[in-house]
Amino acid sequence: MEQPEIKVGFVQTKSIMTKSNGPLGGYSVNPYVGCPHACKYCYASFMKRFTGHTEDWGTFMDVKEWPAITNPQKYAGQKVIVGTVTDGYNPLEEKFGKTRLLLEQLKDSGADILICTKSDLVLRDMDLLTEINKRNRLTVSWSVNTLDENFKNDMDAAVSIERRLAAMKQVYDAGIRTVCFISPVFPGITDIEAIFERAKDQCDLVWLENLNLRGGFKKTIMDYIAAKYPHLMPLYEEIYGKRNRGYFEALEKKAEEMAHRYGCRFVDNETPYERVPQGYPTIVDYFYHEEVRGSQNTGVRNKKEEN
Ligand code: SF4
Repeated sequence: MEQPEIKVGFVQTKSIMTKSNGPLGGYSVNPYVGCPHACKYCYASFMKRFTGHTEDWGTFMDVKEWPAITNPQKYAGQKVIVGTVTDGYNPLEEKFGKTRLLLEQLKDSGADILICTKSDLVLRDMDLLTEINKRNRLTVSWSVNTLDENFKNDMDAAVSIERRLAAMKQVYDAGIRTVCFISPVFPGITDIEAIFERAKDQCDLVWLENLNLRGGFKKTIMDYIAAKYPHLMPLYEEIYGKRNRGYFEALEKKAEEMAHRYGCRFVDNETPYERVPQGYPTIVDYFYHEEVRGSQNTGVRNKKEEN
C-alpha cells in the first residue's frame, strides 16, 4: 500500500494521559490523532467520529500539544500503553517528535510502559529506551500478522515485515522486553506457527488476537477476501456472518498444542511481568480479548454469547 498523502493539523489537549478501558487497564497515550499506516482493518478508525474528521482514515493526522507531565510518579507501577489508536512511531514522528517528547516526560515515572508499533523508527530512540529500561518496566511490541509482504502491502502502509522483525531483534538484543503481536489473525491467511518460528528467539511474548470485523471496515475486508481469496469466503461468512467461533476455538487449541511442543507457557493474561529464556516466549491468548480482562490466567473468561 502506498503511503497516503497526509493532511496534518494540530490539537491542544488538557492531558495526554487517558484512563484505558482496554483488557490491560492502566492508561492509553496517543500523541497523535489518526494514523498514516491506514490499516484496512483498523479498529481505531472509529476515532473519526469523535474528532470531527470526515476524511478517509489514514489520510489525516493531528499532532497533539499537551501540558508537560509534571507529576510522572503518579504513574509508578501503572500500565501506560503508547499507541492504542495511533502508531506513535508513524513516519511523521520523525518530524514532530511527540512520542519522544512523551517518553522523555515519563522516563523517571516508574510506569510499566508498553509501546505498540508497526515501525522501525523506534530505533531512533534507542538511547532513550535504554535509559527508560533502567528505571521502568519497558516493553516494545510489533504487530506482525503475516510473513507475506504482498498481503502486508494490501493491508497497511507501514514498513515491511522484515524491517519490523529487524527492529524487534535490535531492541531485544539491547535487553528490552519485546512482543511479537500476531494481530489481527486472518482466518486461513495468518500462519501463526511460521511467524512464531521466525520471532521466537527475539521476543519475550507472543500475543495472539483474532480479526474482529464489527467495525465499519467489515465490508472492506469482506470485499478484499472475495476478490483475493475467494476460496476463503465460505469460512469468512461462517465466522463473520453467522458468528461461528469454531475456527478460532480450534486455532486456540492448536496454539496451545504448539506452545507445549516448543516448551512455552500458554496463558490468557501476561501477568506477572517477566523476561523469559531466549527461544521460549510466553504465548498469550488474546482471542476474543474483550473477555480476557480479569481472567488472570485462570482460563475462566467473562464469556459473552456473541463475539
Ligand atoms: S497501526 Fe494501528 S492505529 Fe495505525 S492504522 Fe494500523 S491498526 Fe490503526
